[in-house]
Amino acid sequence: MCVNTPYRDRMFKLILEIAERGVDVIFLDGPAYYPGACYCKHCRSMVSRFQPERIGATPRGGGS
Ligand SMILES: [Zn+2]
Repeated sequence: MCVNTPYRDRMFKLILEIAERGVDVIFLDGPAYYPGACYCKHCRSMVSRFQPERIGATPRGGGS
């Protein structure tokens, strides 16, 4: 699951709910983030906004 999707906001909300219960530690075994590895609509939108010079660049590894 890409961290740039609404999934991130959902996870932040869940983490806050858990933290409010007084736990000492929350261990997240993911998600992993690999810059340049995701071309979902959310990542493409962020790239076009913050790195417009990368639009049209070939994905790493020749992916689609
Ligand atoms: Zn993405």
